[in-house]
Amino acid sequence: MKLSQYLGVNLDIKRDDLTGLALGGNKTRKLEFILGNALQQGCNTVITAGAVQSNHCRQTAAAAAMLGLECHLVLGGTRPKNAQGNVLLNQLFGAHVHWAGVHRKGEDIPELVKSLAASGRLPYVVPYGGSNALGALAYYHAAHELSQQIARGSAKDESKNGVASKQYSHIIFASSSGGTHAGLSLGNKAYACANKVIGINIDKTESAIRFSKRIAYMANEAAELAMSDVRIRADEIHLNDNYLGEGYAVVGNAERNAIKLMASIEGILLDPVYSGRAFAGLIDMADKGEIPKGSDVLFWHTGGVPALFAYSDSVLSD
Ligand SMILES: *Cc1c(COP(=O)(O)O)cnc(C)c1O
Repeated sequence: MKLSQYLGVNLDIKRDDLTGLALGGNKTRKLEFILGNALQQGCNTVITAGAVQSNHCRQTAAAAAMLGLECHLVLGGTRPKNAQGNVLLNQLFGAHVHWAGVHRKGEDIPELVKSLAASGRLPYVVPYGGSNALGALAYYHAAHELSQQIARGSAKDESKNGVASKQYSHIIFASSSGGTHAGLSLGNKAYACANKVIGINIDKTESAIRFSKRIAYMANEAAELAMSDVRIRADEIHLNDNYLGEGYAVVGNAERNAIKLMASIEGILLDPVYSGRAFAGLIDMADKGEIPKGSDVLFWHTGGVPALFAYSDSVLSD
């Protein structure tokens, strides 16, 4: 990629912004497993929660529409004046939106479950960000997919039964509710795609130590579901806390520059909340030599692009 030259590292991008399901993103892989479970249980209504511009909620609403499930979204904040980005899409998918004010993490879900059950529905709660053992399992399999892509890409790995040699020095991505991080860390231990899997922390809601423990726990639950013997410890989870900026979804210079750089050099869109912040982290780590020059780096693009339209002012301002 042309950006490689600019950064001084060999950059590849895993395009999970192109996973499909209503403009793509990392929740597609998770929802395949989670909503499979909902259908298995005979549920007919799904409930989940998120921030105003939650990509997870938008993709859940789309998947529910596809599967003929009623969808309830508990969104933080208040109804915006202009329905833009994911807010617009939620409406098109026919989701029932409940505005929850300061509660953006589903604090109001138990009450909603009660009232929906009382009215005869069979509700299924999709966890915040789709992060549980099933969501992590999806990203464990995604690591396997990557290892096969690596193996196909270089003949010398063919003797290894599809298990890649340590092709990348780093895999970098946005980490927020931790399911992606859990699955990729576990999957990398099983399939050896990279020397280091680093999640750029997007939303500081707990200490790095607690978050890493929770990620490792989710990963090991996913390992059990996958019937894998691989287990991971919290000290093997790499979480970079240096790019939290002014807080969750506050767009700063770093995010703006990363978005403009990727768009203007590669014609690829990043989002202002997740992938833009994570890529800004990658740029800075390459600048500082934390990622050594000449490294083979994989940026795992987790999607989020619809949110761009809701942040046009802060993305364009200088
Ligand atoms: C949800 C989301 C993430 C974070 O993934 P988690 O598994 O919740 O950590 C990253 N990028 C985008 C665009 C997202 O929507």
